[in-house]
Amino acid sequence: MLHWGNDWNTKSLASKRIAGVGDRCEGRVRSGMTTELEHFIDGKRVAGTSGNHDDVFDPNTGGVQARVPLASSGEVDAAVRGAAEAQREWANWNPQRRARVLMRFLELCREEMDSLARLLASEHGKTVPDAKGDVQRGLEVVEFATGIPHLLKGEYTEGAGAGIDVYSMRQPLGVAVGITPFNFPAMIPLWKAAPAIACGNSFVLKPSERDPSVPLRLAELFVEAGLPPGVFNVVNGDKTAVDALLTHQDVAAVGFVGSSDIAEYIHSTATAHGKRAQCFGGAKNHMIIMPDADLDQAVEALVGAGYGSAGERCMAISVAVPVGQPTAEALVEKLTERVNGLRIGTSFDDSADFGPLVTAAAKQRVDDYIGIGVEEGADLLVDGRGFRMPEHENGFFTGASLFDNVTSDMRIYNEEIFGPVLSVVRAAVYEEALRLPSQHQYGNGVAIFTRDGDAAREFAGRVDTGMVGINVPIPVPIAYHTFGGWKRSGFGDLNQHGPDSIRFYTRTKTVTSRWPSGRKEEASFTIPTMH
Ligand code: NAD
Repeated sequence: MLHWGNDWNTKSLASKRIAGVGDRCEGRVRSGMTTELEHFIDGKRVAGTSGNHDDVFDPNTGGVQARVPLASSGEVDAAVRGAAEAQREWANWNPQRRARVLMRFLELCREEMDSLARLLASEHGKTVPDAKGDVQRGLEVVEFATGIPHLLKGEYTEGAGAGIDVYSMRQPLGVAVGITPFNFPAMIPLWKAAPAIACGNSFVLKPSERDPSVPLRLAELFVEAGLPPGVFNVVNGDKTAVDALLTHQDVAAVGFVGSSDIAEYIHSTATAHGKRAQCFGGAKNHMIIMPDADLDQAVEALVGAGYGSAGERCMAISVAVPVGQPTAEALVEKLTERVNGLRIGTSFDDSADFGPLVTAAAKQRVDDYIGIGVEEGADLLVDGRGFRMPEHENGFFTGASLFDNVTSDMRIYNEEIFGPVLSVVRAAVYEEALRLPSQHQYGNGVAIFTRDGDAAREFAGRVDTGMVGINVPIPVPIAYHTFGGWKRSGFGDLNQHGPDSIRFYTRTKTVTSRWPSGRKEEASFTIPTMH
């Protein structure tokens, strides 16, 4: 199986550091103190003034560990205006100088990897090693964005006509906004912010109100790395803040990741207000297991991709599709045993396969879907409901669940559950297996496990989804390729990171120049052509 390297053992930097929330997170969680969080505007933390707050929970204990301010439209306006002003100067920095800020930011984040991951895990509930992966996958896009001097180079044609040269340049848009989900509080903000600011834009992030502390810490690290105040801002909030961002006259582009209904709303509202928008939504990722697949490999891939991070990943595998009855029988037997043996623990238990869900509401939603699946007639082979973590009885834990004989008319198949629940949908033949992900409302990722190169190639070409894995269960593309789903998994035209991100965060200006050198010329009344 393809292994994505996690190399965060870089040398420590002897630098003077800002003491941020990352340095105090463990004390905060252990003592049960409630921290008042802030916004990050114009290079510093700023207390909320709206009077509205939301609770940030510790999913391991179920207790409230912090309060996050919810910005008013006036606070949003102040942040966007400041960002617009900062952008004018930032865009004048040459690309190499901008890249150096990102390089320094990478060093600071690597130095702080452990505390960032622990802080992230304490609010999200994922395990610390998984949280390191969250930060690391974000940093890989920052690494990509450090290539901005090369990525921003335009095109040039010498002698397009007599004495005529044509060249194009990519210029920043102004203020870009990111509205991001709870499930990757480091990775997705960095996927959006790093290319945006590398291109010379300023950025206002509206992170998830469930786990805002890592985004706030990243903002501090950006400033410590030399980013001018106002270029990267964090405004916490709910729909009020989001709507103020979507309609603000100084916002040029909106990048969103979250659930599909909200993605569709953000896309239509932002574009109706003249913004460029790319909005990524929910998912139901299938894994096809062909009769020739190595079943042990397939089972390991299914449990890792299905239950890792408690299934709270947009690229989680939530549907297994064995092809043919013998494959299904053998797969289900092995899978049931493996799922029964999964180890659930707190975020800080290094031996845990996965931790708690993010909120009590998320846990209730998962439990409700399992009840729906039973009512619909699916076979519940492993029931994770009722799981209690010893000494953490109020934590938002749920066990792993496994359904067999799920059919394509069931709600548990058609809707995103976003929890540790895997559904087996048996397909009689390959064409039926191909149709399932292709006809599903979501089209984020899909995987096929097979030893047959022809079958894999044919599947990759025909399946109607945005990202395909061949013997790779979570085919999140590397930073210098692009990431994006189809159908109700993506609204807008361009993908995230890779070359599309440079296109999204810039607009192209094309210059046609001519130096007539004093020749006498007469007006031409026909459209100029090249001949
Ligand atoms: P969510 O849609 O509830 O929230 C996402 C963001 O939108 C948050 O910042 C939230 O504050 C904001 N928001 C929520 N309701 C809003 C409203 N009514 N008006 C305006 N803004 C609103 O999503 P979530 O629960 O945080 O994240 C999980 C979802 O994200 C899942 O559906 C998952 O599949 C999806 N996701 C998709 C991708 C992808 O790349 N396609 C990646 C990660 C997560």
